[in-house]
Amino acid sequence: MKTVSSLLDPIWYERYKRISHLNIRSSIYDVTNRCNLRCKGCFFFSSGEHHVTEEMDLKKWEAFIDKEKARGVNLAILIGGEPTLCMDRVEAFYNRLPTYLATNGLIKISRDRFPDMMVGISLWGGGDDEKILRGQDTFAVSSKNYEGDPYTYYLYTVTPKQVGKIEPVIRRIADCGLKVHLQLLSNDEGVDGFSWRPEELRDLRFEMDEMLDAFPQTVISSKYYHEVITTGMMLGRHFGWNECPSVTESMDHRRPPVRRLIHFYRWAADLQTSHRCCTSATRDCATCKDGAAHMSWIMVNKRAHIVSTKDLQNWIEVYEMFAKLYRLIPW
Ligand code: SF4
Ligand code: SF4
Repeated sequence: MKTVSSLLDPIWYERYKRISHLNIRSSIYDVTNRCNLRCKGCFFFSSGEHHVTEEMDLKKWEAFIDKEKARGVNLAILIGGEPTLCMDRVEAFYNRLPTYLATNGLIKISRDRFPDMMVGISLWGGGDDEKILRGQDTFAVSSKNYEGDPYTYYLYTVTPKQVGKIEPVIRRIADCGLKVHLQLLSNDEGVDGFSWRPEELRDLRFEMDEMLDAFPQTVISSKYYHEVITTGMMLGRHFGWNECPSVTESMDHRRPPVRRLIHFYRWAADLQTSHRCCTSATRDCATCKDGAAHMSWIMVNKRAHIVSTKDLQNWIEVYEMFAKLYRLIPW
């Protein structure tokens, strides 16, 4: 029988040991239904997930977070809407749990108040794409707000129109002293020209590989992740509803059970409603390009990768990528 130690040399085994003790129990929280942008293709608004009554009482948020902590959550991922519109709620999470904040970066968080909170800034391509999809070039603002911040990276959602044009975007990010992680747009509102064609995905995979080689200090990624997210395939299996690990536990009635994130929930801002998964409740899973779901898909399938040295090394690299994105291991 193949074992981890039989497949790895001492260096890789050390890398394996460094991540294998991490015992992440994450859940996702819609901090607010409001946003200071309205991006075309925003999964939150396009799927109507904001149609709940937002809880306004901070005490209720605090009690809710305490219950989540008691449920075993040890990583709170804050999304929205735009969470920085509700700093008191963000602080309630930050004071209780390791917290990651996803933001469009237009509002600067105070590092006096949140000294080591991980921040991921959404970016949808170069300035022209951003103007079409988001109404403004957010990078111009967010890069000034977060320049050189050691706990911040860009979450760059690559669109089909960006294929062949990623390099200048990565260079701008490197020049302002920040890191970047790449994922792909899932054109939830069917904006013309922003749906993926197979040849674009093929080209993008190799372009992402090139960026990782050219900017190893800036790009937090792995070539195996590039392969899986652009092909939707892992070890001969197709990504989709039957494989997705990022489904809210109480809504997961799949049989036989699927390997999944343990006790994962995504909660709405009323603190009572839960959403189907980590992204749009109305998205067709067959077209889903969600980066976190693909990353988690690989991570929860460790056993399937204990077949060859290369497969196991691929798995380790993806796990390291995840751990770096949350600063669980150093960049
Ligand atoms: S900034 Fe984020 S939450 Fe706000 S509209 Fe854009 S994608 Fe949606
Ligand atoms: S839309 Fe994506 S993340 Fe959500 S259940 Fe489907 S495959 Fe999973």
